[in-house]
Amino acid sequence: MDIIRLRGIGVSPGIAMGDVLLPKRVIFTSRKELVPASQVEDELRRLKGAIERTKAELVNIRENIKEKMGEQNAFIFEAHLLMLEDPTLLAGLENIIREEKSRSEWALSKTNSRYEQMFESLADDYFRQRKSDVSDVLARVYRNLESRREKEQRPVRQHVLVAHELLPSEAAIRLGREMTLGVALDMGGQTSHTAILARSMNIPAVLGLRNITSHVREGDFVIVDGMGGEIIINPPAAVRREYLAKKEKYDNYRRELQKTAKLKAVTLDKVRANLLANIELPEEVPMAMSLGAEGIGLFRSEFIYLRTTSQPSEEDHLAIYSRIARDAAPHPVYIRTLDIGGEKSLPQLNIEQEPNPALGLRAVRFSLRNKPLFRTQLRAILRASPQKNVRVLVPMVTEVEEIIEVKDIFEDVKAELRQENVKFDEKIPLGVMIEVPAAAALTDLMLREVDYVSIGTNDLIQYFLAVDRSNEFVSYLYKPFHPAVLRLIRLVIQAAQKAGKGVTVCGEMAADPLSAIVLMGFGLRTFSMNPIFIPRIKKALRAVEAKTAEKIVAEMMKLRSAQEIEEYVIEEILVRHPQVFLGSRPFEPDLGH
Ligand code: PEP
Ligand code: MG
Repeated sequence: MDIIRLRGIGVSPGIAMGDVLLPKRVIFTSRKELVPASQVEDELRRLKGAIERTKAELVNIRENIKEKMGEQNAFIFEAHLLMLEDPTLLAGLENIIREEKSRSEWALSKTNSRYEQMFESLADDYFRQRKSDVSDVLARVYRNLESRREKEQRPVRQHVLVAHELLPSEAAIRLGREMTLGVALDMGGQTSHTAILARSMNIPAVLGLRNITSHVREGDFVIVDGMGGEIIINPPAAVRREYLAKKEKYDNYRRELQKTAKLKAVTLDKVRANLLANIELPEEVPMAMSLGAEGIGLFRSEFIYLRTTSQPSEEDHLAIYSRIARDAAPHPVYIRTLDIGGEKSLPQLNIEQEPNPALGLRAVRFSLRNKPLFRTQLRAILRASPQKNVRVLVPMVTEVEEIIEVKDIFEDVKAELRQENVKFDEKIPLGVMIEVPAAAALTDLMLREVDYVSIGTNDLIQYFLAVDRSNEFVSYLYKPFHPAVLRLIRLVIQAAQKAGKGVTVCGEMAADPLSAIVLMGFGLRTFSMNPIFIPRIKKALRAVEAKTAEKIVAEMMKLRSAQEIEEYVIEEILVRHPQVFLGSRPFEPDLGH
């Protein structure tokens, strides 16, 4: 048998090996079957029956998953049930059947492609991924059009799941079974549901393989390398042995990390740091906590718009914020108001195409132009705050006037809630993201208006260096250690210290051991990052002295290029605290990639 190696995106670390299981796909129809005008009402009843059966099925699955995998993983089915109540979706289906006098299969398929196209046109990968939620629900209704359909066979042996794409509910069901050792998909990326779920269930996964389904057959033997982002099909014995050894090394390492996760983030000279998690879905909170997060430093609330096809209501926002606040309590939760607009466009928001989206009507600019929507979000955040662990974070602020305007609205919303006798945290902290260089330069003035700042290094670097953060052609210029970037960050941290107010870094820089040490040297104590990186940052910070970090950064600031700075920092740390580099690469142990 030929050995085939395929490259994809490693989204959940670890190594799995086993026989392939290829589940059947739901295929929407491209055939428009018509019904006589006299039977249109019957067809509508047929669709309604399928929707009712789907709802019953979803309730069942939700309860099942809740019991087996915890409430956090059952939430998706809640969202799917809500979609089936969505008036826009239901009216759309009914219209197709009435107007085109077609069968329900056609109405579901047409609606599916409509949503697919709508989501596909979005530039942001994270948003594009969300189309699968709609497909998932529509496919389930489709299957339920037949009232007596075949029951799916449950796999009886452990296997590696290979598929074109996993619908979110399918992912929850299949990854919840102990039978699934690893996952390999044609589609998907870091932010897809399958990726998030695989990470939280600790199942190695490689997604975005493009065409693995055409390379494997049921029963083939495969290796899933979630760190290297590689799949090896039918490896010879020697390769199997090699990967078995890697697997053992990784599993040991993971056990060690789990131990680190329980330890405090404290340097050798007893300086305490706080490591928080960045999340995009409420389901991620328990996993973040189990990895040692001491709160949620950034909840990217844009995601809420992806779970419905219409405008989320205040109650939708509230349910999500309350859930995160409850699951993270007593730790803090920073809820970032909508960072949408520009390239992060969404169908239900009718955002105009802009010539230069990154510099356009994004984030707080968008919120201030759409005040009713902003007020709804602020009301929900306030209503979720009685436990006093919720904070508000406003993205992409450029000037002080914007903060004043936000505060006016915030106060007005608070007054409204008081009048309605609704309880909220009267002292709820309000902060801004420092992502626009102008805001960084004004940190002292900004801090007169707010309680804290959070540095979004992803955007700050992009705007300060004029380098698109997601453009591979210029990625060589995207340098967190650029001396100008470091000066700017130091300025923000120092301004916050001088004002006696809180400062956090929630961009990717916080998740890199070397830059975390540099930030610590600047005086930063609160870091927020993708939860899977928390143990490695904890490990790195526990292996240095804050005093050393301070000395290193003082010297480093005299250098003139990113390369010189990086080399200098690595060398100094190697000499003083070599432990930092033991197992500090993304998915750590050096497995010889
Ligand atoms: C940032 O810009 O660093 C940040 C954390 O925000 P986002 O990545 O969501 O733009
Ligand atoms: Mg940002």
